[in-house]
Amino acid sequence: MTEERRSPKNKNNRKLFWENIARVNLHRCFVCSLSLAVALSIILILVNTVFLNDQLVHFVLPAAFFAVGCGAFSFLTYVTINSDNREYFDAESYAFIGFTFLYLCYLTVLTIKYYNSFALYCVAVLISAYVIYSTTTQYIIISGVELLGLAVIIVIAGKAGSSIDFSQIIMIVAAHCFSFILSRDNYTMRTEITRQEFRAKAETKQAERDPLTGLINRRGLEREIAPIWKVCVKQSQLVGVIIIDIDHFKKYNDGFGHVQGDVCLKQVAARIATTVGNIGFTSRIGGEEFLVFLYGLEEDEMFNLAEKVRQDVEGLRIQHATAKNAVVTISLGLDIETASPDMNFTALYGRADKLLYKAKQIGRNRVICNRKHQIAPPVINE
Ligand code: GH3
Ligand code: MG
Ligand code: MG
Repeated sequence: MTEERRSPKNKNNRKLFWENIARVNLHRCFVCSLSLAVALSIILILVNTVFLNDQLVHFVLPAAFFAVGCGAFSFLTYVTINSDNREYFDAESYAFIGFTFLYLCYLTVLTIKYYNSFALYCVAVLISAYVIYSTTTQYIIISGVELLGLAVIIVIAGKAGSSIDFSQIIMIVAAHCFSFILSRDNYTMRTEITRQEFRAKAETKQAERDPLTGLINRRGLEREIAPIWKVCVKQSQLVGVIIIDIDHFKKYNDGFGHVQGDVCLKQVAARIATTVGNIGFTSRIGGEEFLVFLYGLEEDEMFNLAEKVRQDVEGLRIQHATAKNAVVTISLGLDIETASPDMNFTALYGRADKLLYKAKQIGRNRVICNRKHQIAPPVINE
C-alpha cells in the first residue's frame, strides 16, 4: 500500500493529516535534541578528567548552548501551536532542523578529527531515522544529504587523504541500512495511528449530529458547552437555556403525513439556527424539540432572542393542519440563571422544560421566562 493511499481521501483531511504528522515530528525533534544535548553535557562533564581542557571547551560549551537553543525553540513552538497562529510554524521548524543539523555536523567533525571515529555520525543517522516520520522519498533525500554532509566533514576534518578503515565503511553502510528499515517501520506505524485518530474523530462528530436537521444533538451540545460552562461558573456569568417545542406537531403529521412533517421540522430547525446564529448553541434534543444554550448576554437580550426565534418561525408561514388559516408555531421555555458551582446544565434544562410546559398550558406560541418578562402573543392555533 502506498503512502498516498494510506492518507485520508478528502483534500482538507489530507492536509490536516500531514499537518498532524509534521507537528508530531517537530515535537519529537525538540524532545530528542534537548535530551541529546543534556545527556552529552552530563556525559562529558562526568568524564572530563580524562579530557584535555580545550576538548572540554569544544564539546561541553556547544552542548550547553545547544540545550539552551532547543529550550528556546521549544518555547517558541509551544506558543505558536497554542495560539493557533500557523504563520511562523514552518519557519520555526526549518530553523530548528537547521540548528540541530549544524550542531550534529559540528560534533561529527570533532569526533572524526580527534578520534577518527564515525560512531557519532552513525548514532545521528539512527536517531534521525527513528525521530522523524518521513515518506520514502523524503527519507532518500535525507540520507543523500547525510552522506553528502559526511563527505564534506571528512574533507573539513582533513581525513580525505588518509585511507578510511573498511570496518568504518561497513559501520556507515550498516547504520544507513538499519535506519532505513527502522524509519519505514516507524512511519507506517505513525500514519496508521494518525489515520485511526482521524476515523475516531469523524465517528464522534457523526454520532453528535442529527442527520435530519444537521444540528448537533444533546451529546454534541454537552461536549461543546462543557468548557464554556466552566468559564461561566468562574466568572459568575448569566447563562440561559431555551427549550423549544413545535405546537401540535402530531396533528401536523396526522394531517400532512410524516414525510411532510420531516420537511417542516427541517425548515423550523434551519430558521431557529439562523436566528440564533453564533450567539448561542442550537441543538435538536428530541422529536420536535430543540434546545438553545446562551451565555455572555444580558437578561433582556436573551429574552428578546427567544421572542425573535418565536416570531421568525411563525413568520415562515408554514401552513398547519389544525385550521384553515393556521400556521406552524412554537412554544418556548427560557430559564436564565447566574452560573454557579452548585448549579449544573441538567438542572437548567429541567427548569426551562417546566417553563415550556407552562407556555403550552397557557396557550402555546409564546415565550415563558423565569425572569420578569412575559409576553402573550396572539394565539393562532387554539
Ligand atoms: P404540543 O403542542 O403539546 O407539543 O403537541 P404535539 O402534538 O407537538 O406534541 P406531542 O409530543 O404529543 O407530539 C410530538 C409529535 O412529533 C409526535 C411525533 O409524531 C412527531 N415527531 C417526532 N419526531 C419526528 C420526526 O422526526 N419526524 C416527524 N415527521 N415527526 C416527528
Ligand atoms: Mg414534544
Ligand atoms: Mg410539540
